[in-house]
Amino acid sequence: MMALILSALAMTIIVAVRYVMVSGLFAWLTARVRPGHYAGLGRQIRMELGWSLVSCAIYGLPAGIIAWGWQTHGWTMIYTNPGALPLWWMPVSLVVYLAAHDTWFYWTHRWMHRPAVFRRIHAVHHASRPPTAWAAMNFHPIEAAIVGLFIPALVFVIPIQAGVLATVLVIMTIMGVTNHMGWEMFPKGLVQSRAGHWLITASHHSRHHEQYRCNYGLYFRLWDHLCRTDRGISTP
Ligand SMILES: [Zn+2]
Ligand SMILES: [Zn+2]
Repeated sequence: MMALILSALAMTIIVAVRYVMVSGLFAWLTARVRPGHYAGLGRQIRMELGWSLVSCAIYGLPAGIIAWGWQTHGWTMIYTNPGALPLWWMPVSLVVYLAAHDTWFYWTHRWMHRPAVFRRIHAVHHASRPPTAWAAMNFHPIEAAIVGLFIPALVFVIPIQAGVLATVLVIMTIMGVTNHMGWEMFPKGLVQSRAGHWLITASHHSRHHEQYRCNYGLYFRLWDHLCRTDRGISTP
């Protein structure tokens, strides 16, 4: 029991440190590259920090319980030896995880834009206007659970190698922060290229925070294109 509590606590701390380090890094970069970009947003940033730290516990507790169950009871379909499954599964599982997460996010996000749900839950996230590097985990606790419990559930269903899972989490963390940074760090040529037509960066998600009922995706623009909710990119 003690090991379980410690695991949940440790994972919460790891998620919180990860949040503060990655958001802090990109906030620092913002101050260097776009001085004054967050001027006057002190109150908003304090709110983003507060909600985000609560989200860290909501992400961290189940992750800690699962990590404990994985170590002690062999829970989940996470495997360590890359040769345990055909090697091609490693890159394929990376894409499958990102696509599944993106799909889950797109549809739950659209649901959260129904007026009643928006007022109760999703308004917290949209109080980030314009978003900052601290807003990546700025969620109402119910939204944090909806967003944060998906990957912990997926590891029970779809096999994934531990290193590939770590890669998914790194991509999730960095894209979450950079897409909220409020300015575009990628060159125009890339953002407006064919790849940019399918990938989400700050230019795409900033427009969601400006206009609300469009650009709902997380990593890819596929669902937005298919459902005609893509309103292009802004150049913040
Ligand atoms: Zn957002
Ligand atoms: Zn939204």
